[in-house]
Amino acid sequence: MSKGHMPKIDSMTVKQASSARLFRRTILRWYGTYGRDLPWRRTRDAWKILVSEIMLQQTQVARVIPKYEAFLSKWPTPKAFASASLGEALSAWNGLGYNRRCKHLHVAAKEIVSELGGITPVNVEILQALPGIGPYTARAVASFSANADVVLWDTNVRRIALRYFFGGEFVRSAPNDEKLHGVLDLSLPKGRSRDWHNALMDFGSAVCIGRSPLCASCPLLRTCIAAPKFLRGLSPARKLVRPQARFEGSRRQARGAVLRALAAAGTKGLRVTALRTLLRSHDAESIVNALVREGLVARRGNVISLP
Ligand code: SF4
Repeated sequence: MSKGHMPKIDSMTVKQASSARLFRRTILRWYGTYGRDLPWRRTRDAWKILVSEIMLQQTQVARVIPKYEAFLSKWPTPKAFASASLGEALSAWNGLGYNRRCKHLHVAAKEIVSELGGITPVNVEILQALPGIGPYTARAVASFSANADVVLWDTNVRRIALRYFFGGEFVRSAPNDEKLHGVLDLSLPKGRSRDWHNALMDFGSAVCIGRSPLCASCPLLRTCIAAPKFLRGLSPARKLVRPQARFEGSRRQARGAVLRALAAAGTKGLRVTALRTLLRSHDAESIVNALVREGLVARRGNVISLP
């Protein structure tokens, strides 16, 4: 190829590529020393990883661990779980909250058995076609079970990349998301996405944390664009933090209380009127009707039970 026809190399891309290499190397080295040993990291079994991913949506690791272990000792395969009743599944889920996740997992297990020979897929498209499995979960299962070269895009990963490559202040928009995705793509170590994403998750929960990142002891301190602002106390993160909705007294808490009461009542169920004391300020009828509509509760007249 003559000199005149050489493709033009974008200097920004070269800079980002070298920055991405350093980012990757530093975080993987940090992970080698400080990475957490979690039960779902000891397996490549796609079913077990799928269960962990569904449980970890909106629930803290410490609460998930005992539930994950109990769930898989009872239902180690999709086939075993598919043959349980939804009521049994919801009873085992008790305490994790967001019970719709359990129902979706139950439907997905049935489909894995009926359509896929009982083998949990590791292909992103096939996973995403299963009920209740969104793009993030599909990619997570593909990455953690098969080391697929896919980028996981969650708040942890987004926050770290946003700070390191762009200084932390970034209005959310399609072009900005594309830039962020670009640097994450460049950073991904091919064939090692499992370690890479585990490393980012741990780094995001131990060092580059939400409100006050520990910049002073961060191994990326010297090259991170946001570090000087954090060190000077000008935390751009504070603007991004949304206050947590109150759980105490919430409708979500009331829904959980109904499902716990039904799990304790067993097959004979409970009369809706008996829930009034339990639900105090909430409208028992409206909560029960919503749970029935979502298929989480069965109703016969005034008596309700787990399906
Ligand atoms: S220096 Fe601070 S902001 Fe930058 S990656 Fe480390 S902890 Fe996060």
